[in-house]
Amino acid sequence: MRDFSYTQAGSVGAAVKAHAQGQDAAYIAGGTTLLDLAKLEVMRPGHLVDVRKTGLDQVERTSDGRLRIGTNVTNTDLAYHPLVQEHYPVLSEAILAGAATGIRNKATTGGNIMQRCRCSYFRDNVSPCNKREPGSGCSAIGGKSRAVFAVLGVSDHCIVAHPSDMCVAMAAIGGYVTVNGPQGERDIDFLDFHLLPGDTPAQEHALEPGEMITHVTLDAPLQGAGSHYLKLRDRASYQFALASAGVIVATDGNTIRDARIALGGVGTKPWRAADAEKALIGQPASEDTFARVAEIAFKGARPTESNAFKVPLGKQAIVRALTTVTGPQAS
Ligand SMILES: Cc1cc2nc3c(=O)[nH]c(=O)nc-3n(C[C@H](O)[C@H](O)[C@H](O)COP(=O)(O)OP(=O)(O)OC[C@H]3O[C@@H](n4cnc5c(N)ncnc54)[C@H](O)[C@@H]3O)c2cc1C
Repeated sequence: MRDFSYTQAGSVGAAVKAHAQGQDAAYIAGGTTLLDLAKLEVMRPGHLVDVRKTGLDQVERTSDGRLRIGTNVTNTDLAYHPLVQEHYPVLSEAILAGAATGIRNKATTGGNIMQRCRCSYFRDNVSPCNKREPGSGCSAIGGKSRAVFAVLGVSDHCIVAHPSDMCVAMAAIGGYVTVNGPQGERDIDFLDFHLLPGDTPAQEHALEPGEMITHVTLDAPLQGAGSHYLKLRDRASYQFALASAGVIVATDGNTIRDARIALGGVGTKPWRAADAEKALIGQPASEDTFARVAEIAFKGARPTESNAFKVPLGKQAIVRALTTVTGPQAS
């Protein structure tokens, strides 16, 4: 591990200033991603700006019925917060499906959104990897590409899946990320925050240099809706999703009135399946309907030989999650 300097910032202004003054600066929160990758020398920060004393640790209802979450709220506190458990149970389920208690106690909201990928070629610090060393190539294409690799949104330069469970629920709920940096404060739509790999896989998010996340604001809950986060994985703990589905569904009798579907483990970013949602609205809640919209969600999937199983698995995750929410009449 290389030497680095460290500042504990007492305010957002102080954090942004310290970041601007540091050489190869990086923000640090819980450290559960960053310190691992610094030890591996995959990330090489010269200066760490600790944001945990900047006070951004509140979860509050806004006057227009949204939920505003400070970046430093830990994954545990967010999952068990009464407002989340009552109004956004899909978010609570998704967070609690991730990692394990010890990590969730340290991991923060902003850090979870900014967590790096789990590709072993990215993390070994040796293999060609366009995310780590732009232009060096993608070792997963034609290499080992099973568990943590995507089938949706992949490019010829990178195929790794976005690892977060929390972000799948947030993508289903909708909202925006508030950031602060050298140019001041701005909001970024949650669905625009993470970028597709395209030709530039090293550019993973919409932050400008020096900007930090201060809050995430979630849209008001869908009235009268039920929800579920289903995560399918190789083992029950400490394991990333092979495929997951976060669904929010409102029905009128047996007819789908409104729906949100987001997917994890299969997309290069937290994946909102907007076409599938549109196809669901106005349809009867039945397994036939769900199977049809699952086909739509995976239209255009580009699996490798090793992760082709994720296409049927992802479709089944959608069908099962929707069936769980809409109840026995769907089966
Ligand atoms: C063994 C293990 C298993 C895991 N399993 C899962 C899982 O199943 N599901 C899942 O979703 N996650 C999983 N994780 C990932 C975990 O959720 C993340 O490591 C964690 O959420 C990161 O939060 P942090 O506060 O520790 O971030 P840090 O490690 O402090 O930072 C992570 C990144 O975010 C940046 N950052 C932090 N705060 C800010 C900010 N306010 N503004 C801008 N940038 C910021 C840092 O610069 C860094 O690049 C696992 C992690 C481990 C180690």
